[in-house]
Amino acid sequence: AHAAQDSFRRKERVEQGLKQAREQVAAVEAMSEEETSRRISKARSRAQRERQQRLEQALEEFEKLAEEGGGKDKENRRVSTTDPQARVMKQADGGFAPSYNVQINTDAANAVVVAVGVVQAGNDFEQLEPGIDRVEQNFGKTPDQAVTDGGFVSRDNIVAMKERGIEFIGPCGDDAGKGKSSYEGRGVSAQYHSSQFVYDAESDSYRCPQGKTLSYEGKEQRHTQVSYRYRAQRSDCQGCPVKSQCCPGNRVTGRSVHRSEEIAEVAEFRHKMQSEQAREIYRHRAQVAETPNLWIKAKFGLRQFSVRGWSKVGMEALWACLTYNIRVWIRLRWRQPAAVATVPA
Ligand code: SF4
Repeated sequence: AHAAQDSFRRKERVEQGLKQAREQVAAVEAMSEEETSRRISKARSRAQRERQQRLEQALEEFEKLAEEGGGKDKENRRVSTTDPQARVMKQADGGFAPSYNVQINTDAANAVVVAVGVVQAGNDFEQLEPGIDRVEQNFGKTPDQAVTDGGFVSRDNIVAMKERGIEFIGPCGDDAGKGKSSYEGRGVSAQYHSSQFVYDAESDSYRCPQGKTLSYEGKEQRHTQVSYRYRAQRSDCQGCPVKSQCCPGNRVTGRSVHRSEEIAEVAEFRHKMQSEQAREIYRHRAQVAETPNLWIKAKFGLRQFSVRGWSKVGMEALWACLTYNIRVWIRLRWRQPAAVATVPA
C-alpha cells in the first residue's frame, strides 16, 4: 500500500487529529482574500478538506475493525491516517507493512490472469471462495480444478470445493507440527505429547505414559471437525513425579488429550494428496501462480501501489493484470502464427 509505516494511529489520536483538521478547514475558509491570495487559499482549503476526509474515513475503519474483531484486542487497533483502508500485513520477508491483499486467479494452460480481487484481510483462508466467485462471474462457470498453496487449505475450503464440484489440490496441513509447537510453548516434554498416550477403543479411554487412565469427558464440535476430550484424575496428576514434564500448567485439573475425527471430505482430500498424480499437479502450481506476480513486480516494477484507497488500488491491480495479459497474448500469437488464408482460384 501507499501508506506510510508510521501513519498508523489509535482511535483517540485519529479523533484528536480530526478535530484539529476541522478547525483548520474552518480557519482557512474564514480567511479573507486580503490575508492570502485566492489560489493559495483554495489549495490550502483543499488539502485540509482531504485530510479531514481521510481522518473521517479512518474513524469508519475503526468501526469496521471492531465488527471484524468482535470486540477483541480493542486497545491495539490502529488505522493509517494516510491510507485508512490499508491493513498491516505480514510480508514475504517476515516483516510487517501497510498492505492490501491482491488475489489473482490464473489459468493453468497459458498462465493468463482470469480474475483479480483486492481485499483487506491478511489471511488467504477466506479468499478461495470469493476468488472462485470472481472466475464464475467472468466466465459464467466455475473451474473444474483449483490448485492453491497451503494458505488456502482449510477444512471449510475442502468442504466448500467438494460442494461446488471443484477438484481441490493443495498441500495437507501439518497438524502434528502445529501440535508440537503448542506443546513446546507450554513446556511439555516430547515424551508426554498426546501421541505418547495410547487409546483403547473398547473402553473409550487413554492410558498415559505413567499407566494412568484418562476417561472420556466431552465432545467439542466446530463447523467441520469433531474433537473428543479425555482427562486424567486430578489426584493422579497432582501427585505424579513427572507432572512438570507432562502438564506443568495444570494446577487444579488432570491432564487432558483430544482425539479428532476427520470428516469424510477431509479424509478423502488427505488420501488424494498422497497420490503421485495430485502431487504432480501441485508441483506446477508455483510456476503458474507466481508468473503473473513476478512479471508485475519485476518487469512492471509494481512493488508499491501509486494510489491510496481500496477501490483505486483495485483499479491499479486490474490495469497491471490487463497489461500482463496483453504481454501473454502477444507471446501466444507470436508462437502460433495465424493460418495463411487460401483464396480459391
Ligand atoms: S501427569 Fe498425569 S497424565 Fe501425565 S504422566 Fe503423570 S499421571 Fe499421567
